[in-house]
Amino acid sequence: MNVHITPSGKKLVTVIPGDGIGPECIQSALRIIEAAGAPLEWEVREAGASVFKKGLESGVPAETIESIRKTRVVLKGPLETPVGYGEKSANVTLRKLFETYANVRPVRELPNVPTPYSGRGIDLVVVRENVEDLYAGIEHMQTPGVAQCLKLISRKGCEKIVRFAFELARAEGRKKVHCATKSNIMKLTEGMLKRTFEEIAPEYPDIEANHIIVDNCAHQMVKRPEQFDIIVTTNMNGDILSDLSSALVGGLGFAPSANIGNEVAIFEAVHGSAPKYAGKNVINPTAVILSAVMMLRYLGEFESATLIENAVLVTLEEGKVRTGDVVGYDRCNTTTEYTDEIIRNLGRKPSTASVREYKPIRLPQISRNPVTVVPQKRRVVGMDVFVEFGGTPEELGKGLEQVVEGTPLRLRLISNRGTMVYPAFGAMTDNVDHWRCRFVLRDESADLSESQALELLQRVGARYQWTHVEKLHEFDGQPGFTKPQGEN
Ligand code: NAP
Repeated sequence: MNVHITPSGKKLVTVIPGDGIGPECIQSALRIIEAAGAPLEWEVREAGASVFKKGLESGVPAETIESIRKTRVVLKGPLETPVGYGEKSANVTLRKLFETYANVRPVRELPNVPTPYSGRGIDLVVVRENVEDLYAGIEHMQTPGVAQCLKLISRKGCEKIVRFAFELARAEGRKKVHCATKSNIMKLTEGMLKRTFEEIAPEYPDIEANHIIVDNCAHQMVKRPEQFDIIVTTNMNGDILSDLSSALVGGLGFAPSANIGNEVAIFEAVHGSAPKYAGKNVINPTAVILSAVMMLRYLGEFESATLIENAVLVTLEEGKVRTGDVVGYDRCNTTTEYTDEIIRNLGRKPSTASVREYKPIRLPQISRNPVTVVPQKRRVVGMDVFVEFGGTPEELGKGLEQVVEGTPLRLRLISNRGTMVYPAFGAMTDNVDHWRCRFVLRDESADLSESQALELLQRVGARYQWTHVEKLHEFDGQPGFTKPQGEN
């Protein structure tokens, strides 16, 4: 970790106040950190709505990027994702620009924050892969009526997040890691996380490792959330499960998070800019305060972190000053009063709740080499050519069989949104104009050459509109592609 130390010996942190309720939450957190005497200094920078309005489509100006490159640590308020201007979310841009691959979202039962689960001792962390999966945002219109989003999952990304989850368990004295995937359906992508998890788990014999199908995980989190300790999962699953987990302990006002990479870490609440409360001094700043506590631990400031966490717990336990999300906005205290109360409680210890023992986390050191898996043997056995076509599967099938007559390739099948429709086997699909046409080499031991692949595309293209193409690889004798629904 390359933290920037100022001439006065303090650790420099980039602070992005953000949009909506962001500045109020950040102000509260900064006042508490300063009152706790943590040796930090701030460099305040912009991102989000104000930047989009100036016409910068990324929402993140060069001065902000420069500051983060220097400080390597960010405390940020929520950033609005504008509708109508600005192409991408500034949040996602920041996470991806600095490869903060681990999104850590802890939730725990808090004293005097009543929920249907009160008394069950929920204390879990969702570790969400933060840069890959569908959130890479690689989307294409394949036909005027069919859109595609690429779900990219890398072995390297899986290894980083799985090792991170186990290391986090050790740093926080946790005993169990569940890996939640949809590997029963997406065997190659979601399955990559499951396989990587099962390979790496034996290196952590002190931690119990379990795989769980993600839909059952959601069910179990609602039914018996106290059974979970750490849940590691892919980006979109993690996005959904972590919002669910925050609802278990009192809502978004209490859900902190960290985006951690090997170079940079960004700490922020899970919640957004809640525009209807902006400037009213009524919101709950706890999520940002607890995100700042996570940041202090990341920076090695364990004492200040525990001091602040204890003060938050005392404030909640005593319940003398309460925020609107807990008691209703007609009889709540202000954000400033709540902050003042936490500052008053610095140095006190809660009588019911306790703070974990934390050790510094050992971040997984994984090679920066882009190539992580090297098969002994590889072969291209055919090609999937995606075609836009307005007729029936039989018309397309017969036509394509003519197209490849006398060539090294044959048409094996056609599927429509994943279900085999040619040769017909009785499926009753409501087809759309987007067909995956699978061609395989007639000689099953051959390797498709570049010229054969290009000739296939030329032949198909002479008669149909092809929109997308995938080579069918075999790595070490294992097919690198799945079968459609209905193929035996
Ligand atoms: P949101 O801002 O999280 O607000 C949803 C609701 O959650 C609020 O209306 C409020 O509920 C409650 N809430 C959130 N934070 C609270 C707090 N600190 N104290 C008390 N209650 C709180 O979600 P959104 O309305 O969907 O999103 C608004 C904007 O934020 C969007 O532009 C979105 O893109 C952006 N966003 C940014 C981030 C980020 O920067 N990381 C994350 C999420 C969303 P009640 O209405 O029930 O009182």
